[in-house]
Amino acid sequence: MSTAADTPLHARSLRTLAAQLRAREFSAVELAQHFLQRIDAHRALGAFLATDPEVTLAQARAADARLADGTAGPLEGVPLAHKDIFVTRDFPSTAGSKMLAGYCSPFDATVVRRLAEAGMVTLGKLNCDEFAMGSANENSAFGPVRNPWNASRVPGGSSGGSAAAVAAGLTPAATGTDTGGSIRQPAAFCGITGIKPTYGRASRYGMIAFASSLDQAGPMARSAEDCALLLSALCGPDPDRDSTSLDVPAEDFTRNLGASLEGLRIGVPDEFFGPGLSDDVRAAVEAALRELEQLGARRVRISLPRTELSIPVYYIIAPAEASSNLSRFDGVKFGHRAAQYDDLLDMYKKTRSEGFGDEVKRRIMIGTYVLSHGYYDAYYLQAQKIRRLIADDFQRAFEQCDVIAGPVAPTVAWALGGHGNDPLADYLADIFTLPASLAGLPGMSVPAGFGESGLPVGLQLIGNYFQEARLLNVAHRLQQATDHHLRRPEGF
Ligand code: GLN
Repeated sequence: MSTAADTPLHARSLRTLAAQLRAREFSAVELAQHFLQRIDAHRALGAFLATDPEVTLAQARAADARLADGTAGPLEGVPLAHKDIFVTRDFPSTAGSKMLAGYCSPFDATVVRRLAEAGMVTLGKLNCDEFAMGSANENSAFGPVRNPWNASRVPGGSSGGSAAAVAAGLTPAATGTDTGGSIRQPAAFCGITGIKPTYGRASRYGMIAFASSLDQAGPMARSAEDCALLLSALCGPDPDRDSTSLDVPAEDFTRNLGASLEGLRIGVPDEFFGPGLSDDVRAAVEAALRELEQLGARRVRISLPRTELSIPVYYIIAPAEASSNLSRFDGVKFGHRAAQYDDLLDMYKKTRSEGFGDEVKRRIMIGTYVLSHGYYDAYYLQAQKIRRLIADDFQRAFEQCDVIAGPVAPTVAWALGGHGNDPLADYLADIFTLPASLAGLPGMSVPAGFGESGLPVGLQLIGNYFQEARLLNVAHRLQQATDHHLRRPEGF
């Protein structure tokens, strides 16, 4: 395994960078400059939407001062970048939408603030699907993101900029958000590690809303250990600002790392290994499961019988919530406003027609339809009932196992434009990530190997509520025994 000394600066772990900053082997300013140069050199990936060296270097100088006077936080001086769905005071916040082009928030999202309080330095804002709606990062109003492993492939979505930037070594870590898989799937497609905590662990304050009952923030980085450090910093109650944030104290998610897997029961759902799963993904996931067995875990066959229903259920509930959340973009309070209009109604119409992209409009229409009188009972209410049954299925499964494991996505990253104008093709690819989202369970993606054309494959781990530390340990043990997460795409 490579050591800190022979690993290039841009591929080192957060723990190593934090320790080297503390030992003054380099300053926070030097480290930030190094990453800013890499970001400039790799603009063609489309990962970053905004950078501002003056802001970043000012933050880095403040970190250096705290490192010098002994008031440093746990991740003092370590750089990161934020998905552009989090609002930030010092950088524009667009949610990947023309609707918010140039928008500057007067405050920082809670997650952004917490990571800054841990000492982290912000490199900029990362591209994403418009309002986090997508599975390929092709729905951004500011252009697609390319996968560093193969520039003709998608990075996954909606946190595609976050995953590509970490995989390419443009930042050691990034934030992401996961509504139906947007941390796990891009992490899998780009060969990095990401975790979505239990719904309510991370504050949604300042996260531009897509589907409020599903949206959850989480870290994306190279390793489970890096994710554990980030998650410890970003979680915690936020009662005054997010009424769905849980009253559960922040945890040290690194505390369990290294614990034995002896006797751990890994539930493998039959429904995750059906005919739709491609052979290369199946092989890599099988190999990872065997590795976990080598480490002492025991494999248990389980069933999540409503897995297929998670697609129609999610694609009713998420658009329903989105249609309500996005009504705030009316050209009055913030964001784009049409330049010419006849009256108020015409202003709304033109503003929203111009400001939103096709996928967002599609979801607003579907959402409005399923919430309308006469259809509410037939669609929305039915979907809510099945959502409950899906959550119950998980609780039954967790009577038989401690952790659930399977693929993150049915295939490796597909070609840019590969799904053409077929939104259903994107929706179907979410099948394995949606169930945990609907149930509000923590889930993560861990590099499991490589498939077709040498593209990364992710292993998904799903835990019961509040079992993040356990998930992170399973991932950590796997990463101690394998080197998939240490591989880097050529040229990066
Ligand atoms: N691909 C899913 C969607 O398009 C999930 C997106 C997300 O998790 N933000 O809605």
